[in-house]
Amino acid sequence: MSEPSTTGRWAPSPTGDLHLGNLRTALLAWLFARSADGDFGWRFEDLDNAVRPQFYDSQLRDVAALGLDWDGEPIRQSERRELYRDAIADLERRGLTYECFCTRREIAEAATAPHGPAPEGAYPGTCRALTAAERAHRRSAGRPAALRVRVNPDDALEGRSVTLVDRQLGSFSGTVDDFVLRRGDGTPAYNLAVVVDDGDQGVTEVVRGDDLLPSTPRQVHLARLLGIDAPAYAHVPMVLGRSGQRLAKRDGAITLADRRALGETTLDVLNLLLHSLGIEPIATAQELPATAAVFQPAALPTDPWTLPLERTTVA
Ligand code: GLU
Repeated sequence: MSEPSTTGRWAPSPTGDLHLGNLRTALLAWLFARSADGDFGWRFEDLDNAVRPQFYDSQLRDVAALGLDWDGEPIRQSERRELYRDAIADLERRGLTYECFCTRREIAEAATAPHGPAPEGAYPGTCRALTAAERAHRRSAGRPAALRVRVNPDDALEGRSVTLVDRQLGSFSGTVDDFVLRRGDGTPAYNLAVVVDDGDQGVTEVVRGDDLLPSTPRQVHLARLLGIDAPAYAHVPMVLGRSGQRLAKRDGAITLADRRALGETTLDVLNLLLHSLGIEPIATAQELPATAAVFQPAALPTDPWTLPLERTTVA
């Protein structure tokens, strides 16, 4: 059999039960992949300390309950540390990294200094040109060093502008600063792990929440440095709670379990999510593949969706 031309993925962090916003993004990522007859992989982004073991299973269960399926066994970033180490070692060997001893506070202060060199929120380059003696001094003071990528090897202070074309949002440009590859505690940073994994898993299309769009130019740049073909991107709108902010516990019944407790079936929840995407309801979850077959990304809403008040609250 020939390789599928599209490989999508879903990459949740097992830090809590999935809410309707997460489930809607999972549904979209699945629809994009399956509508193109593509593969769809599951990756747990579990390098963070906030991971709780019970949520691996509960997330798999909830997504499966909605009728979504995936190819192969879910993978865990926590079991792939060697891959991240190798990628970092490669960049180090090529002189494309440096140690950074700055605290968050120092970065914030330097970045807001009048006439500071860096665009808003970007790393101002404080540690870029430390001498070996200065680094040793900081190390001996017990400061843990993060590792940053040297985006402009010629030490120009400004970052590098990277443009990508998002399938849903069109052209997007961002300034890539010297972002973190490895945190001070030794954990590979999100941007590094995501690029290495998408490359390793042969992902050709990333579908995810548009809150991650600002990180994407960094990932495109890093993929280039690592000789990885950057995937296509489709950033999809978020789900908002009644306060107009991204969905959170305060918004009431936001998980599948919460909705069931209100008397809704899993199919009701699936149809609510489909409705929010402008897609016809279905009578059983078995009809989902047929929905995927006629799925049209161009017809998707471009605005965030506000979760309606629960029926029980309205009554
Ligand atoms: N782990 C990220 C999240 O749960 C998703 C990262 C990605 O899709 O690139 O928001």
